[in-house]
Amino acid sequence: MKRIINITTNEHPYSLELLPDLKHTLESYGFAVPDNFSTDAELIICIGGDGSFLNTLHKHNFPKMQLVGINTGHLGFFQEIHPHEIEEFIHAYLRGDFFVQKIRPLQATVHDNDGVSTLMGLNEIVIKSDKSRTVHLNINVNGNFIEKFSGDGLIVSTPSGSTAYNYSAGGSIVDPSLNLIQVTPLAPINTTAYRSFTSSIVLPETSVIEITPEDKFESSLLLVSDGIEFRCPEIQKISVSTSDTTVRLLRLRNYEFWSKVKEKFL
Ligand code: NAP
Ligand code: MN
Repeated sequence: MKRIINITTNEHPYSLELLPDLKHTLESYGFAVPDNFSTDAELIICIGGDGSFLNTLHKHNFPKMQLVGINTGHLGFFQEIHPHEIEEFIHAYLRGDFFVQKIRPLQATVHDNDGVSTLMGLNEIVIKSDKSRTVHLNINVNGNFIEKFSGDGLIVSTPSGSTAYNYSAGGSIVDPSLNLIQVTPLAPINTTAYRSFTSSIVLPETSVIEITPEDKFESSLLLVSDGIEFRCPEIQKISVSTSDTTVRLLRLRNYEFWSKVKEKFL
């Protein structure tokens, strides 16, 4: 039986150009590369940027198999390999010379008039108004009331998502060895009428964060998980927690989080 590797790609011309070369190279090393996504594969190679990596996860329902990214995109925080390092990577992969970064996504359980639905986010789950209005949200953590938030919305982010939207909104960059959930406010209102925390709050990864819209205001919200929008009319409750799923991301031996942060941000 041949060892199977899936390749996914975004639509950028450079990614599409790389695809046949990558397939050919993998085949020359004895791997099978199916035209359609195979659930029997041992690895997914994702060509593109972070957006394309996130897309692969969502499209294939957060698969259990290992993933690695080739960066043809912009920033490439998840993407480990430069296009010119493909052959080098295959050698390292065959030698087992890599490590697996395990990332736990967030899961949001949404209760609305239609019933219960679930979304997952590797970077974050954002909760905001679906009509550019102020949202008023009651936040409970593990059953304890924390605050009534008023403002544009909330970003609930993972440590790996901390460098994405969370960081732009003033949240902290989190070392991936820490297991936590960060809740970062988007334009919190602080007046005599409304009081909200102005900084992020940081909670253990085992926390359950329950968000309920204040009923005297609109309960129709926009949820965005890793950039994918879900419009939810008449929400009763959103419960966000760390998912049981694990995303297994391959990193080369020399990967070091803070070097990547410096390289990409400073
Ligand atoms: P996008 O508009 O291309 O994403 C914006 C930027 O975020 C891109 O440069 C993307 O990298 C980068 N990014 C994604 N995940 C990251 C991470 N974990 N650490 C550091 N940077 C990261 O849309 P997209 O590519 O589909 O990505 C979706 C993400 O965009 C969302 O999960 C959210 O975090 C982020 N976003 C940011 C803002 C903001 O900063 N104001 C607003 C909305 C959404 P690539 O260039 O490699 O794709
Ligand atoms: Mn992108």
